[in-house]
Amino acid sequence: MSSISQLIQDVKRLAVKAVEISGGGEPTVYPYLGDIITGLNSIDVDVAMISNFLNIPESLWKAIGGLRWVRVSLIAMTAEEYHKITGNPRDFFVKACNNVLEYIERFRANCYISATIMIDEREFNNEKIVSVFDFASYLHLDQIFFKLVYDKFRPKAISSYIDINLDLCESLEDEYMIKTNLRKLFSNEHSEYVTKDSGVVCSYISRGSSLLVTADGNCYGCLEHFASKIKPYGNINKQSLVDIISQSNDIKNQLYCHACSHCRVWSIRQEYEKFLETGLRQLCYDPHSNFL
Ligand code: SF4
Repeated sequence: MSSISQLIQDVKRLAVKAVEISGGGEPTVYPYLGDIITGLNSIDVDVAMISNFLNIPESLWKAIGGLRWVRVSLIAMTAEEYHKITGNPRDFFVKACNNVLEYIERFRANCYISATIMIDEREFNNEKIVSVFDFASYLHLDQIFFKLVYDKFRPKAISSYIDINLDLCESLEDEYMIKTNLRKLFSNEHSEYVTKDSGVVCSYISRGSSLLVTADGNCYGCLEHFASKIKPYGNINKQSLVDIISQSNDIKNQLYCHACSHCRVWSIRQEYEKFLETGLRQLCYDPHSNFL
């Protein structure tokens, strides 16, 4: 059995409902991406992908029609801004926008389409937000995922130094019928992770909620686990996912987090904790968490 078929079987055995393909590299350069999406679709798993949408080979177009949620890392609203933030050539931006438009034309009915837009914290104001909505509307996006480009890292709640009108943002969401993560991004909820004591076992990891697979196949709870050089749970190239998860128990209860304020999964982790407390699945101000 090939490793991809094995992985699909494991996902089925683990009763996984959704898989997001993302992180640490561009998924569309992986030659077996189409097989993975098609395999997961065949066992009724919802599949999401985060991609720069720059290079979509013809052979991949049919398979990515099976995605239920896509987040395109467009990064900016103009080729000039894109070049300034990423250092990539300006025509890459045009290519990504054209691929988004083509994707929407082909697969609009099956999939929520969102884009990441990064804004310099010094320019984050109501006027800029309106221009992002206009841009997203031109591309027919369902969701916008705002991110800040920091002038310098500020270890405090974001809402304490940026002044935007969140009520205006919500009325724009209704008017344009586009969801965003704005209220979540500017929420004081974020501070909980900045002020949380470090050096305690991470409840998210100890429940086995996250798995980071690095390029060599090693599996870790999260980036903090990888960085702290504690041995990996196992290796996906040598073991089945089911075996790796079952042997992770001894390790995950020793994972003391020292980087909560930098946690890459803080929003998902927070929503998951709310779900465990209340038993209710609630929509929140983060389209990414809502998909999961
Ligand atoms: S970085 Fe996030 S997921 Fe990882 S141990 Fe810390 S709080 Fe948990």
